[in-house]
Amino acid sequence: MMDRALIFDIKRGCSEDGPGIRTTVFFKGCPLSCVWCQNPEGIERKQEIDLNGDVVGEWIDLDELLYRVRQDKPFYGSSGGGVTLSGGEPTWQMGFIHPFLKALKTEGIHTAIETCGLFNYARFQQQLLPWLDLIYFDLKLIDNFQSRRYTGCSNHTILNNFTRLIANAEIPVVPRIPLIPGISDTEHNLRGMADYLRKNGVDSCSLMPYNPMWHDKLKQLGKSSCYDRSTFLTPEEQQASLRYFRKQQ
Ligand code: SF4
Repeated sequence: MMDRALIFDIKRGCSEDGPGIRTTVFFKGCPLSCVWCQNPEGIERKQEIDLNGDVVGEWIDLDELLYRVRQDKPFYGSSGGGVTLSGGEPTWQMGFIHPFLKALKTEGIHTAIETCGLFNYARFQQQLLPWLDLIYFDLKLIDNFQSRRYTGCSNHTILNNFTRLIANAEIPVVPRIPLIPGISDTEHNLRGMADYLRKNGVDSCSLMPYNPMWHDKLKQLGKSSCYDRSTFLTPEEQQASLRYFRKQQ
């Protein structure tokens, strides 16, 4: 068990990371390094200093984090909300989020996690699954070469974990595909993903539109990326993505 977690943000009053009004906790550190990462301050598993001289990331112990998220408990109850674990990749700090989730469930608080899917399945099943109510599972690239190229990691474990979770979990597992122009929104990728989901008996998925606001955050960290798209998806690109995704093989 870890008694502290490295966290880079806690957002209160969220309405996008699950049902109702939620508090989203962003854990710092991710095994992937996507060239379009929307939360680049969440990738490094260590504190960083940005160009303003501000420290990015804070070590917080379990009691302190529970104290902070409990402050909105009345809103969770009245709205059907709760706490969402995000990042970065929260499962990278599994030794901490295990007791954190247990404590939340003991208090009757709804729990959700947003994961990139790259984790040890046995540990996830044993230490997290019993205390989760909802899983958002990101699926990015169906082709392993592309996955290595753009996320820095193979997709094998991610796809295996998704298949196992869909078969075994007794809670909702919601697949999400970020639409990254020229990378994940291609016909090849979206048709391949749709086929993979169908084979797993999944008939719905969230397509997440590209948001270029990460460029400013990356600059603030004094870093750069090889990916330079700086505009949102056009309506035509969004329509094309839907068409590719729905098209039968
Ligand atoms: S998995 Fe998510 S947090 Fe991790 S590098 Fe990719 S986009 Fe960023």
